[in-house]
Amino acid sequence: CGICGVVGLRHATPIVFEGLRRLEYRGYDSAGIATLVDGRVERRRAAGKLDNLGRLLEDNPLAGTTGIGHTRWATHGAPTACNAHPHGTERVAIVHNGIIENFETLRRELEAVGQVFQTETDSETIALMVDFYLTQGYAPREAALNTLKRLEGAYAVAMIFAGHEGLMIGACHSAPLAVGYGDGEMFLGSDSLALAPLTRRITYMEDGDCVVITPAGAEFITFDGTPVTRKEQTTALAA
Ligand code: GLU
Repeated sequence: CGICGVVGLRHATPIVFEGLRRLEYRGYDSAGIATLVDGRVERRRAAGKLDNLGRLLEDNPLAGTTGIGHTRWATHGAPTACNAHPHGTERVAIVHNGIIENFETLRRELEAVGQVFQTETDSETIALMVDFYLTQGYAPREAALNTLKRLEGAYAVAMIFAGHEGLMIGACHSAPLAVGYGDGEMFLGSDSLALAPLTRRITYMEDGDCVVITPAGAEFITFDGTPVTRKEQTTALAA
């Protein structure tokens, strides 16, 4: 139900966790964070309150400067730790808000080429499709775009990739997603409130936008890879 992500120089987990706190008002039943640790995808997920995830992170800290987090409002699959986002493999981690309407078709296709699902969610199809394209030798951007072109429904997603520190790809269709600009770091959030303590410089993404984010900035493209220009705004200071 809420997404927060960061690439930059600082420890990602506390920044993402604070972003998830600010998205709590939307309601959620579970939460999780993934980061890159020495280039590897690491995840922590917990059912229930953010405090449960907080305790898990105290016991098992999550290092890394590239991270994504999610508060989930389950639509497909029970609100368990296993079904909590981020979903992924050793190659990719994704968080997703919304519903992938054609996930059953995509899931059957992916299972037919040997992808093994761990969860009951519609969201995991995104992770396993990106993963499939990565195993076929596609770069993260192409793997993401190939996948986004197949998704039907309303969604916002964020992805990070093993071996690609400082890279985060976001996309949305009929669901909100905002890019935040920092100084040597960049953010992604479901709304400007999630990013309010981090930056006032925001770009709201439009339907069918994909964004390729690095600490140096954001590149907006369509799902066909065509560059598009999106305006940066300055939000009012949060209360
Ligand atoms: N449909 C997804 C799920 O059930 C995402 C739900 C959400 O927006 O939190 O896991």
